[in-house]
Amino acid sequence: MNMSYVFTPPEQVSLPVRGATELFPVHRVYCVGRNYAAHAVEMGHDPEKELPFFFQKSPDNIVAPGGDFPYPSASEDVHHEIELTVALKSGGDDIAIDKALDCVFGYGVALDMTRRDLQGEMKRLGRPWEIGKAFELSAPSSELVSVEEIGHPENGAVWLKVNGQMRQEGDINQLIWKVPEVISILSGLFTLRAGDIIMTGTPAGVGPVQRGDKLQGHVEGVGELTVSVV
Ligand code: MN
Repeated sequence: MNMSYVFTPPEQVSLPVRGATELFPVHRVYCVGRNYAAHAVEMGHDPEKELPFFFQKSPDNIVAPGGDFPYPSASEDVHHEIELTVALKSGGDDIAIDKALDCVFGYGVALDMTRRDLQGEMKRLGRPWEIGKAFELSAPSSELVSVEEIGHPENGAVWLKVNGQMRQEGDINQLIWKVPEVISILSGLFTLRAGDIIMTGTPAGVGPVQRGDKLQGHVEGVGELTVSVV
C-alpha cells in the first residue's frame, strides 16, 4: 500500500551535537518545576515540602543554536529561566535510579522562556500552564554534547547574563532532584523515549526580558548559548 499523507508532515525537530555531523532528533520536551531551592523560595514556595512536578513544552518550541527569541504575543512579563538539559538516547517505564544515566545521550543548555503573567494567572485559577510555558519558540537551546565527551556532570556553575549583567547564578550541584532521580520519577509517569529532552529547572534570579536584550547562558563543562530578544 502506498502510504501518503493528506498534507506534507512537519520536519523532524532536531538539535546539533558538538563534534558530530548527525543531528539529535527531538521527541518530547519535559520540564521540571522548582528544582533549585533558592528559585522555589523566590517564587513563594517552601522547597522542603515538595516532590518534583513536571510540565511539557512542544518539541517545535525549540529554537536551534544561533536563533533569535521573538518577544511573544499576549504577555508583558516574559522571563528567562536558564537550565541544564538532559537528552535521552533510550527510555522506558519505571526506570530504576541506578539505571537512569544509561538512558542519557548527552547534555545541553536551554532557556525555559516563560510568559510569567499568563503562568501566574493560570496558577491563580488552578488551570494548566501551557499558555505560560509552551508558546512558540519558547525554548532556545544550545548544541548538545555527548556523555562520551563530558561524562555526567554533577557540579558546575550555571548562570545567565542579560546585556553582560549577571542575573541568574547557581550550580548544578544545587539541583534538589538530581538527573537520575528526575529520569526515574518521570518514567513512572510517562513512557520515556530516545529523543526526549528534559529541562531540569532553573536557579534563582529569574526576571523579565525586553526586545533588544542579549541573553548569554552557561553551564560549566556543558556549554553556552547566546540569544537575542527581537
Ligand atoms: Mn523552568
